[in-house]
This record gives sequence, C-alpha cells and structure tokens, in this order.
Amino acid sequence: MLLNLGLEKGDRVAFLDKTCPWYLEFYYGITLGGLVAVPLNYRLVERELIYIINNCRPKAIIVGSEYTNIIDSIRSHIPTIKHFISMEPADGYMLYESKIKESSPLEPNVEISAKDLAVISYTSGTTSMPKGVMLSHGNISANAANENLSVCITHDDIVYYPAPLFHVMGCMAMGMLATGCTLVFEEYKAEKFYERIQQESITKVVTTAGPLTMLVNSEINYKQYDLSSLRTVITGGSPMPGKIATELFNILPNLEVMYVSFAQTEASPFITIDAVTRQDILEGRYNEHSGREVFLTRVKIVDDQDNDLPVGHRGEIIARGPNVMLGYWEMPEENTQTLREGWLHTNDIGYFDSNGYLYVVDRKKDMILSGSENVSSKEVESVLYQHPAIADAAVIGVSDEKWGERVHAVIVLKSGQQEDPEGIIKFCRENLAGYKTPRSIEFISDLPRNATGKVLKNRLREKYKK
Ligand code: ATP
Repeated sequence: MLLNLGLEKGDRVAFLDKTCPWYLEFYYGITLGGLVAVPLNYRLVERELIYIINNCRPKAIIVGSEYTNIIDSIRSHIPTIKHFISMEPADGYMLYESKIKESSPLEPNVEISAKDLAVISYTSGTTSMPKGVMLSHGNISANAANENLSVCITHDDIVYYPAPLFHVMGCMAMGMLATGCTLVFEEYKAEKFYERIQQESITKVVTTAGPLTMLVNSEINYKQYDLSSLRTVITGGSPMPGKIATELFNILPNLEVMYVSFAQTEASPFITIDAVTRQDILEGRYNEHSGREVFLTRVKIVDDQDNDLPVGHRGEIIARGPNVMLGYWEMPEENTQTLREGWLHTNDIGYFDSNGYLYVVDRKKDMILSGSENVSSKEVESVLYQHPAIADAAVIGVSDEKWGERVHAVIVLKSGQQEDPEGIIKFCRENLAGYKTPRSIEFISDLPRNATGKVLKNRLREKYKK
C-alpha cells in the first residue's frame, strides 16, 4: 500500500493509535517495505506531536479513529506528511482497509539488510526532549535473540502484554512473536490484569515494574480468580522492589520465575536479565539486582574517563553488542557522547557483584549531591517501600541553602493509612545513613507516571525549581 503511494526505502511512516489488533501490522508492514516505522505516543499533546513529526519528517501517517481530530488540528504544522490514512472513514483521509485491499498480497521487492533503519522509537522524555532512537533490523533481531534465549518463550506460550506498543516494547513484541507464541495485548489496567490471566490461561506476563507495583498495592480481590496458569513474569524498566516481588509470588500460586532486567530503548532494549525463582524469594536471596548480561551483549562499568572499574565499584553502565542502536536521529553531538568506540553510554550508574549480577544504583541525573555525599534516590525509595503505610514513593533532590541539595521524598500512602512526616523520617533514619535520610516529605494522591509506569521526576522537580 505505502510503496504504491510512491514511498521509497528509508521514508518514514508515522502511526498514532491506542494498542489495537492492527498495531503490530503497522510495525511489520512498514518495515517489510524497507520503510521506517515511527510509532507515536497517543498521550502526547499537539505541541509534542508537532515536535516529533517535524523532527523525523514522515511522508505518511496512519491514524486511529480517536486521533484524527488532533491530527487535523495540527495539519498545517506538519508539512512533510503527504498521505493521511485512517482506520475509519474520515474526511481528508484514505481508508486503510480499502488501500490494503488494492495492494498486492506478495512481499514487496525491496532489499533490506541488517544495518538498515527499521524503527525510530522516541524516548519518553523523562530526562530531556524526546530523542529519536534509531533501531535497525539487525538491532531488533539481536534483541529478539537476547530476549527469547533468556526467557525461554515457546510456541505454546500465551503471553500477556499489558504494555504500550508505541514504546520500544512494541519492537520487543515483534521479537517475541518470532517464537510462534500467542500474544494477548491491551493497555494496562489493574482491574483487567487478573481477569485476563484467568480468561486466556496466560502462561507468561511481560510488563514494567511500575504497573506490577500498582497492582500489588491495589485493593483488587485476586482470590476470586484462577491464576494457576501463570508461570513466568518478565519485568524491567525500574528496579523490582523485593517486597513487591515477594507479594507477587504470594498472589500467583504457580509463579515459578520472575525475570528482572535492565533495559533501555537505545539497546532495543535488553542489556541484562536473569531469573529470580520462588526459592530465591523464600530463601531471601533476591537482593534487587537487575540480572546478568544478555547473550549477545557485553556490559561494563567505567569511570568518567572510560576506565574499566572492578567488581563492586560504582560507575557508568556501558554496553556493546548488535542490539545497540544506530544512534539518535539527527543528533550528532549526542551520538558522539553516547556512542563511544562502539559502547553505548547509558547514563545510568551501577555496579556488578562477583557473580555477574548488575545493580542499578540510579540515573546519573537522579543522583542527589547532599553536602559532599552522593545519595541514590533509588536506594532511599527502596527503604520507603518497606514502610507498611507507603504505597508509592519517589525521591528527588531539591535545592537547599545549607546542603546544596536536600533529599526530598514524595509519598503516596496506602488507602486508609495515616502517617506523619516525622514518622517516615524516623523510619528512614533507622534504615539509612543520616545524609541519605529525607529531610522533607510531601504527600500526594498519585505519582505522575509515563505510559510505561515510570515516575516523571522532572514533573516533581518543576515545583521546586519555581
Ligand atoms: P528518557 O530516556 O527520555 O528519559 P525513558 O526513561 O522512558 O525516557 P527508556 O528507554 O524507556 O527511556 O528507559 C530506560 C531507562 O530506564 C534506563 O536508562 C534506566 O534509567 C531505567 N531502567 C531500566 N531498567 C532499570 C532497572 N532494572 N533498574 C533501574 N532503572 C532501570
């Protein structure tokens, strides 16, 4: 269809819709024609869509029926798009289905190599403006190998995928389908989670740690569901707190393993992954690591001069392998900084233990410098999660006259629970060195999160910048 419209290898095609049955068709169809798929986050507002579209300059866009209005309102600002295609009849749009029917059922005659660009996946912008991560056909295939070898998905698996597909997780889904498994995908909703496992006899679940935390903290009565089919949970995106992992093993009677991972869009996305078993949980062996190197990828810890650091030493996590992105779309300076001698500099701080397990300490940016001491916001959060009244927590550094930065905790209490700031500070002081203990506490009803459930710390910081 798109080649018939005159698009040529390397042209970008954007698509904007909620998770829907044809979403993976967009990924497969566009990339099979040698074109470049640009999935757009449907939560973006006009200004953000204009930014991304003008950044990658697609020639065509496919739009779900709920989103034709927003695209119409920005039409005059996105001049590169010549072909507007919609899923339902709409004025000014070609209809997807009828265009597909007119097209040849044969595979397009386009030569594609592993190095060719397949997808531009925009980062969610938790740290800066969204960056277009360029993933090649080879990157996506390498990740599929890393992922499928690690988590042993087979054609018998029924995999539940309550995750946004516009995110790099959509590329992961393409890789998973290569095993012949069945994929059940939809937007994450806590109230659907257990019901879907029972209904579809789900064997594996893939989702980030944020939604799993929200699920465990929800008041849904999981006991009314038959959850016995579920054997495996695959997660990442942020550290999996031990307490949440333990509760999940309690809720899911036949859960055998939970794969924890460290992943980044720039690595298509897996960098490390490993299994945490029920036995590990029962015997207290899970200490919130993020797994070990994936099969095809090497991972190191380095200092600011890129010197290798020994086991146990904290430094920047860097990775090299066939899954590492081609670079950021049209950002030469960022590319020179991020990809040095083939190594992807993740901007995350971590260390390895002597068994090769990676511990992610924090994003470089989320480390707090209080006095002359570095404080990992993640370490403080993991202590806060141990507090019986706390459902959710995020720690940030806010400017402080005396300390430069002070540790500030933003807390969501469990419903019906009461606790005052002093009680929480006291709890932290018993479990953390003084300089790591939050000096101020703020209660809110919900943490702002992005579509994959990651806390938007820049939003929390905004208030204090003012
Ligand atoms: P942006 O790059 O714009 O900030 P983002 O954070 O959503 O967007 P992703 O590629 O989705 O980008 O997420 C990658 C980041 O998630 C990593 O760089 C790291 O900071 C964090 N992360 C992933 N896995 C873990 C983990 N196991 N523990 C801690 N942090 C993790």
